[in-house]
Amino acid sequence: MGNLAKALTVAGSDSGGGAGIQADLKTFHQFHVYGMSALTAVTAQNTLGVHGVYPLPAEAVANQMQQVIEDLGVDAMKTGMLFNVEIIEAVAEQIRQHQVKNVVVDPVMIAKGGAKLLLDEAVKAIVEKLLPYTLIVTPNLPEAEHLTGRPIRNVAEMKEAAKAIVAMGAKHVVMKGGHLPADEIVDLLYDGEQFFTFVHQRVNTQHTHGTGCTFSAALTAELAKGSTVYEAMERANRFIIEAIATAPGIGRGHGPTNHWA
Ligand code: PLP
Repeated sequence: MGNLAKALTVAGSDSGGGAGIQADLKTFHQFHVYGMSALTAVTAQNTLGVHGVYPLPAEAVANQMQQVIEDLGVDAMKTGMLFNVEIIEAVAEQIRQHQVKNVVVDPVMIAKGGAKLLLDEAVKAIVEKLLPYTLIVTPNLPEAEHLTGRPIRNVAEMKEAAKAIVAMGAKHVVMKGGHLPADEIVDLLYDGEQFFTFVHQRVNTQHTHGTGCTFSAALTAELAKGSTVYEAMERANRFIIEAIATAPGIGRGHGPTNHWA
């Protein structure tokens, strides 16, 4: 176990187990990566929606990060729900102090049911404080629109937005195209020079809760194991497509994806 890969998720708890910290840790485990967590907020949540959000003090987030980084070591980390400016600043400061490499930022903003997982004023802090330390940022289209302030209606506009986001400081952008109204979904990887597209058929299902969390956790797990960004993207993409296609269909609302995919 001397070369056990270790990954950290800095994210919120989903009591329903489909998204957030729970999805991240299950995904790390599925990729045979040792998972650690720094909790940012507790949500009271199930497949019907988010019924309460209880953020932790920024100091508690920073302390959790510090303790695991200094003792166990972190080969790759991801951020999910960060909720407010104070937490974002604390996370960025820990990354800076400990020079954490392989940082994946999933710029979680609004849950599918409409609950705010990031305050409006905190979008700017993600851009200014966190993106400069980011190896891969993984916006879906609404998130990319918030980050860039421009509408995205087609793949050409996805590419323009990806360029704008790399100009903000992130090294790579993975933009998930599932919000475009087409049967063929185009996911985009941009490394600042080249675009790579990953095209697949849409799976028609309501069980997509936690898709973004699970995908970014898979990317992080692959980076922790030493995969290149392109390899990590290929494997995480294959994993999430399979996870959606084989979702267990539990709960009365938007159920989780298959965490054993
Ligand atoms: N709850 C938490 C704690 C999350 O981190 C996320 C992820 O983005 C969500 C909920 C969103 O879940 P959904 O995929 O249903 O939008």
